[in-house]
Amino acid sequence: MTKTILPLWINGRHSKSSSTRLADITNPATGVVISRVPLANREDVESAVAAAKAAFPDWRDTTPLSRSRILSRFRVLLETHRAELVQLASEEHGKTLEDAAGSVQRGIEVVEFAAGAPHLLKGEHAENVGRGIDCHSMLQPIGVCAGITPFNFPAMVPMWMFPIAIACGNTFVLKPSEKVPSCSLRMAELFKEAGLPDGVFNVVPGDKEAVDTLLSHPDVRSISFVGSTPVAKYIYETAAHHGKRVQALGGAKNHAVVLQDAPLDFTADAIIGAAYGSAGERCMAISTVVAVGDIADALVSKLKTRAGKLVVGPGDKKGVEMGPVISAQHRDNILGYIASGVAQGAKLITDGRGVKVHGHENGFFVGPTLFDNVTTGMTIYKEEIFGPVLIVLRVASLDEAINMINSNPYANGTAIFTASGAAARRFQNEIEVGMVGINVPIPVPMAFFSFGGWKSSLFGDLHMHGMEGVYFYTRTKAITTRWPEVSDNSASTLVMPTLG
Ligand code: NAD
Repeated sequence: MTKTILPLWINGRHSKSSSTRLADITNPATGVVISRVPLANREDVESAVAAAKAAFPDWRDTTPLSRSRILSRFRVLLETHRAELVQLASEEHGKTLEDAAGSVQRGIEVVEFAAGAPHLLKGEHAENVGRGIDCHSMLQPIGVCAGITPFNFPAMVPMWMFPIAIACGNTFVLKPSEKVPSCSLRMAELFKEAGLPDGVFNVVPGDKEAVDTLLSHPDVRSISFVGSTPVAKYIYETAAHHGKRVQALGGAKNHAVVLQDAPLDFTADAIIGAAYGSAGERCMAISTVVAVGDIADALVSKLKTRAGKLVVGPGDKKGVEMGPVISAQHRDNILGYIASGVAQGAKLITDGRGVKVHGHENGFFVGPTLFDNVTTGMTIYKEEIFGPVLIVLRVASLDEAINMINSNPYANGTAIFTASGAAARRFQNEIEVGMVGINVPIPVPMAFFSFGGWKSSLFGDLHMHGMEGVYFYTRTKAITTRWPEVSDNSASTLVMPTLG
């Protein structure tokens, strides 16, 4: 049967790609190809950038208030079409409808934040920085901005970027993951319906060819990227080489430290949700438990009971708690990691291999998997698995836990479970990780704070959304003003001016 070929979105309308390369979009729960997407070529991306460039001068000159009103209408349309976006995200990614709904909501909240543009874009002003001299700063847009996004959050991660860039007066070219492009294309239609002028937002699904065109294009001023660490590093280096501003968020290995005084049931419930939600395909998933002291046996027993009860199946079926992983290839990678854990001597407590989902025999399912007695030398500790595999390491002290986390190259999120304020305070102070939860397993900051890790989890200086998002998408200009009175004495001076 011929499959629908998705369009690109350029200059406010659907556009046919000139690329001859197509990628299959597969429903991971069934293994069935549901549509096909063109992999945008250089020419397609150049058309999108040209449309964004042409739209920039007018859009830059719109008032922040009118941009805010368009964003507010967009937010209402996103809410009206929430179920449709949730369905698309679940169908292409595999996550459950409830989980997809949560992520769409977190994206909508960024739109809500961006609608505060008139307030967010106010600069600073100081009167009398010198006698008769005032100074003010302005936040100005930078031009055409580009975003490149991963498969695991089809709606939310794109919304970390484009609403803020556009609220700041920029125009945008989005290159969504070729595995899950439909939410981005649908959001582009809704944004137009909200009143966004043509060319301000463009969507070009594609792969490396499209990305490389954006990275070297002289009219693209900034690159926002979210994806795996090797690609993030490549994006950062290449885009910076071409003189662009870059924020490139990479992969993760998020540790949850459990101290002996942690409330056990609460902690086990929290870890199970954070480890297996979205089948572990979240950059903020807890993939590693660090059990301190002699709490490990009791904790592992509770994790085992809970992991064993999780309902695995298609994301659109009521009662299902964990869906499939994104592809057959990714499933096989995860199975390879499980085999390596066994081969390297970790204790397999719950084995997710060979899980069968009745009626979905061709889906890409891996059941919840739990390892105990893992050590830092094992591959399942060292590498990001990005699947439903939770590992437990045992240490003697909080010091040892902190050292372990600080020695790990990834530094996206972490959490501590404890009843001790002093221990939690020490942890938040000494841990070298970008986002920290205290009895909160997935500490994803709300839209009005900024999201981002440290070390190999983020290349660049500014995190996404919140005020750091606003600063990323603007340039600050400082203006110093003096209006001399006719009677003011003037005299040349070659000395470095000082005021006061
Ligand atoms: P990925 O790195 O394979 O792909 C991300 C994007 O880059 C996609 O749009 C893809 O088309 C493009 N791409 C892939 N290979 C490329 C190449 N060689 N050159 C240029 N572009 C390339 O990541 P993914 O598999 O889509 O997503 C999973 C990864 O994303 C995980 O590592 C996860 O931790 C990470 N992630 C991180 C965050 C974060 O906030 N730090 C959030 C979500 C996902």
